[in-house]
Amino acid sequence: MIIILKDGAKQEQIQSLVQNITNRGLTVHESIGSQSHILGVIGDTSRVDTQTIINLECVSDVKRVSEPYKAVNRKFHPEDTIVDISGRKVGEGYFNMIAGPCSVESEEQIIEVAKRVKASGASMLRGGAYKPRTSPYAFQGLKQEGIKLLLAAKKETGLPIVTELTNIMNLKYFDEVDVIQVGARNMQNFDMLYELGHSNKPILLKRGLSSTIEEWLMSAEYIMSGGNQNVILCERGIRTYETATRNTFDISAVPILKRLSHLPIIVDPSHATGKTWLVEPLVRAAIGAGADGAMIEVHNNPSCALCDGAQSITPDTFDTIMKDVKSRVKFEGKILV
Ligand code: PEP
Ligand code: MN
Repeated sequence: MIIILKDGAKQEQIQSLVQNITNRGLTVHESIGSQSHILGVIGDTSRVDTQTIINLECVSDVKRVSEPYKAVNRKFHPEDTIVDISGRKVGEGYFNMIAGPCSVESEEQIIEVAKRVKASGASMLRGGAYKPRTSPYAFQGLKQEGIKLLLAAKKETGLPIVTELTNIMNLKYFDEVDVIQVGARNMQNFDMLYELGHSNKPILLKRGLSSTIEEWLMSAEYIMSGGNQNVILCERGIRTYETATRNTFDISAVPILKRLSHLPIIVDPSHATGKTWLVEPLVRAAIGAGADGAMIEVHNNPSCALCDGAQSITPDTFDTIMKDVKSRVKFEGKILV
């Protein structure tokens, strides 16, 4: 349920209404925007009489929210959420390019890639330390050592780092990580989502391989319902019958999510397509669709990459793409890096 407050509603009246609602065991999310002041009510609101609330002096309207996701719902928070990542803003048109290898392989590799993508204009560095691999025989990541190397690259370049958590037991190693990635395979690991909801780290929540937009938003709801409001969604392609690409890039998810939710949404054309030559056109598509950024796999020697080499572009190609992005995105006072 959302309660739309009148312009100039008195603080004491709002306070008493919030108290009245929380006394019934319900949770209230207050959203104060430039255009609206809203109280989003979460819980079993079936016994709340809307007419009694509408009659209050400070209330302009009351609406029931039929969607199962509440905190992530744009009806609860009409203005775009901007997630601040160590000074880099994501959301509401702050277009961020996150770049780096699929996996951290060595100190030389991650530092070289970090320096190159930073010089081109990337605003964050990605790199997997814990890798969820389909085959148990494939490279599983450098794990804790990988995190240390990412931190070294962060120290060297100043780029915030994004890396995947595959098991909640390892959260203790992520203290200095700027953004925790929840990968496609863990999008519905509800215990993990619950724990991350009780942390204050920005979370990059990738779409599950076969998840609907509603299931994805419900996973974001798990995180937000725990109190963590710093969630960024990432479209990374879904399973379909199409075999021309590794996955099928669901570009329509971008404007759909913009309509349904206030959360920032970025895209990952590397995993969505599995092909280097599709990265550039799909970054352009993402800009056109209104995305808040892109995450791209960049490797200094893709043919020798231990993971996802076929979809990893070189730093030179990343530089070309960055130039194109800078020419297309109007920042108007908003930052790129
Ligand atoms: C990755 O970002 O390297 C990754 C494993 O992504 P996804 O979870 O989207 O497959
Ligand atoms: Mn990868």
